[in-house]
Amino acid sequence: MKRFCLAIAAVMLLGGCSSAATGESSTSTGNASADSSTVSAEKTVSVENDRESVYQVSLLQGLTLGDYYGSVTVGKLKEKGDTGIGTFEGVNGELIMLDGVVYRAKEDGSVEVAPDEETIPFADVTFFDNDTTEEISNIANIDELKSYLDKKVDGYGKNRFYMIKISGKFKSVYARSELKQEEPYKTLAEALSTDQREFTFSDTEGTVVGLYCPEYMNDLNAVGWHFHYVSDDKQNGGHVLGLEFENAKISWDNTDGFNMQLPETQMFPTLDLTIDQSEDIHKVEQADGK
Ligand SMILES: [Zn+2]
Repeated sequence: MKRFCLAIAAVMLLGGCSSAATGESSTSTGNASADSSTVSAEKTVSVENDRESVYQVSLLQGLTLGDYYGSVTVGKLKEKGDTGIGTFEGVNGELIMLDGVVYRAKEDGSVEVAPDEETIPFADVTFFDNDTTEEISNIANIDELKSYLDKKVDGYGKNRFYMIKISGKFKSVYARSELKQEEPYKTLAEALSTDQREFTFSDTEGTVVGLYCPEYMNDLNAVGWHFHYVSDDKQNGGHVLGLEFENAKISWDNTDGFNMQLPETQMFPTLDLTIDQSEDIHKVEQADGK
C-alpha cells in the first residue's frame, strides 16, 4: 500500500511533468486516458493516501517573507492530520498538534488549545501511524539528537518524510515562541530579531513532535529536522532550540506522500519566491540564529 501511495503522491506533486512525459510516446488520446486513470486511482486511495501524506499549508518560504495571513482554519487542519507543527495568523505563537488537538505555545511558553476558527499561514500535519518505536538514551543536546536521527534516516531512506514523536522525561527543553505580529508584516527573521521569546523547561515530561523533510524540499520548507514541544500537562511548549534527556521513546511515522495547499492570501500571489532565503531560514530555525 505504501508503495502505491508514493506513486500517487508523485502524480499529485508532479502532475504537469508526468503528463508531458507521457505525451512523448503517446497520442493525445493516450494522454486523456492517463489523466482519467490518475483521477480514478486518486479517488480509490484517497482515505489511505490522506493517512500517508504530509499535508502542508503554504511554503515556509512564504511565511519567512512575511506572509502571516492565515489561509486554512484549525478545524480544517484537523481533517488533514492529527499530529504536526506550524504557526497561526500573525505568527501568534507556535502550533503543536498532538493526538488531534491543536495547541498554541504563547510568547511566555504557556500553552492553550487553539480555537477551530483561527487561521493558519503555515503548518505540516499528518495522521500519525506508528511504524517503528525505539528507545533512545543519553542525549546531551539537540545536535546529538539530530545526528542520531539522521543516522536512522540514512537506514530508513532519506527521500521520504518522517513525522516522529519523542516522549519521555526531559532534563531540559529550551524553546521559543514569539509575539503576535501586526501589519504591515516584516520578514520572519526581522520579526524574530526583536519579538522572539525564549524559555527553558526543566525536568519536564512531554512530547517533542518532529518533522523531517528531504533535501529536495529545499524551496518549499526547511530540510532536515524541525521540532516543537508540548508537556504532558499541556502547560508548556514551543519551537525547540535545545534539549537534554536520559531516556525517551521515539515513534516514527514513515510518510510517502506530500500534499501542499497554496494560500489564497492577499500577499501570496505576488511574493518573490525565487529569493534565496536559506540564510534567513537557518536563522529562524536555530538557537544561534538570533
Ligand atoms: Zn517551529
